Amino acid sequence: MQKTIALVAHDHKKPDLVKWSLAHKTELTKHKLVATGTTGGILQKELDLDIHCFKSGPLGGDQQIGALIAEGKLDCLIFFWDPLNPAPHDPDVKALLRLCSVWNLPVACNVSTADMLLTSPLFINNDYQRDIPDL
Ligand code: PGA
Repeated sequence: MQKTIALVAHDHKKPDLVKWSLAHKTELTKHKLVATGTTGGILQKELDLDIHCFKSGPLGGDQQIGALIAEGKLDCLIFFWDPLNPAPHDPDVKALLRLCSVWNLPVACNVSTADMLLTSPLFINNDYQRDIPDL
């Protein structure tokens, strides 16, 4: 079953996401991919992946992805945020992570977690029924 996966990386983390996406390209191509603007543009160029690009994160892209979560239209978020540099859109970053918790959405914020998430049999075989809170 095709899932919708969102890919987002802050500037210093974009190389990590490119490397990670290359390593998981075969699995990623099976799914619908969305991304914030700059991240998506880089991944399209570097990996030749079909990705729907929203606005750049600081210009509202994080919130567009948050809206997908709130509407139940996202299955997984790979979000390599930068813990060492301040972001002008920090409230949006927090809001995005908050919505992942509100809606029990699988979210990976670093390479090792993203590796485990995308290679999990629960993910690959659709063996996991995520509880979506009845709020
Ligand atoms: P970008 O946004 O992909 O447009 O750089 C990422 C972010 O800062 O949330």
